[in-house]
Amino acid sequence: MEIVEHPELMQDLADRLRREGKQIGLVPTMGALHEGHLSLMRRCRSDNDISVMSLFVNPLQFNQKSDLAAYPRDLEWDLKKAQAVGVDLVFAPIEQTMYPEGFQTFVTVEELTRRWEGEFRPGHFRGVATVVAKLFSIVKPQRAYFGQKDYQQALVVKRMVRDLYLDVKIVVMPIVRDPDGLALSSRNVNLSGEERKAALSLHRSLVFAEERVRAGERDAKAIVEGIQKIVEGEPLARIDYIACCHSETLEPLERSEGTVLVAIAAWIGDTRLIDNVLITD
Ligand code: AMP
Repeated sequence: MEIVEHPELMQDLADRLRREGKQIGLVPTMGALHEGHLSLMRRCRSDNDISVMSLFVNPLQFNQKSDLAAYPRDLEWDLKKAQAVGVDLVFAPIEQTMYPEGFQTFVTVEELTRRWEGEFRPGHFRGVATVVAKLFSIVKPQRAYFGQKDYQQALVVKRMVRDLYLDVKIVVMPIVRDPDGLALSSRNVNLSGEERKAALSLHRSLVFAEERVRAGERDAKAIVEGIQKIVEGEPLARIDYIACCHSETLEPLERSEGTVLVAIAAWIGDTRLIDNVLITD
């Protein structure tokens, strides 16, 4: 497994691989790898000749300094995991080469970032879109892999790709969970035992919502209130938002029809978690 730090070296390598007719797949990550990331890498590996994982804790997408400081980092662990799933190349740039002095160009996806994560994390998606656009032009992948866990992010990336005619196919993979339902997240390591138990209410509330819809509930307000009641039953949880919205536009719905996205963001102690489910009636 090769490790490349410098963007220009990575570009040269990508050019060479493409000249050789190789298909390049990219899995962008911020490290602290878990099975969710690894599922993307396995798929990337089976779809492409060369699988690249990027490893960069992108300061631009953190709207709170404390969150950036608390973000888990363990390069040795990440490299071991990447190697074990057969990643060919790790692109691990340092901040100064990604955002050198004088850097002043950003990508903003407008409508799709107004609500939900965009509202509660101002500047977050500008950071995501900018770094992903840069990663695409550095790694030059034919395919890039994202998790449904960050549903709005995947939608924003797809929109950016369409709007800018970027020549890359976006593949979105299902949420990987622990056996008890907790969606895997790099931030889970920051949860105490008690917090982890409280965090299970997120998935439990989404399962409940899904059951309600399957049983014929169509009123979005009732669905949201049902979720709220379950999560608020945990004293350690504080909800940022509960979304029952259109799966493509992310506009809130009054009635659940067709495929709807039900998503939640909540603080469990000092850790902010997100989860979601797509429900088709
Ligand atoms: P991150 O390192 O948190 O930026 O995540 C890198 C990629 O892994 C993103 O596309 C995430 O959506 C995806 N991812 C994170 N957690 C999960 C999960 N539990 N299941 C599937 N994909 C995930």
